[in-house]
Amino acid sequence: MVDGNTSDTLRHVLHELLHVVFSELVLGKLDDTLEEVLIVAFDHYLHDYVQASKPRRLKWEALIAQKLKESESLLDDVPLEEQVVRKDRG
Ligand SMILES: [Zn+2]
Repeated sequence: MVDGNTSDTLRHVLHELLHVVFSELVLGKLDDTLEEVLIVAFDHYLHDYVQASKPRRLKWEALIAQKLKESESLLDDVPLEEQVVRKDRG
């Protein structure tokens, strides 16, 4: 569920997506601290870029809400204990 602070949710999603992209591009080439610093810089830039356009922001928020809804429905059949274990690993 997307909470009231969608701006923070958007920033977290952008940050984690950048980790996925960076892990493929620079795996083993940068130290973890430098990679994190670069990702934080990019996520600030991308967050500002998305926020600068209302249609763009609404599109991202709708897509994030849709993905969260899909993942919640997938977890409906999973016992709570297993959901906790999965979240700990993530
Ligand atoms: Zn990070």
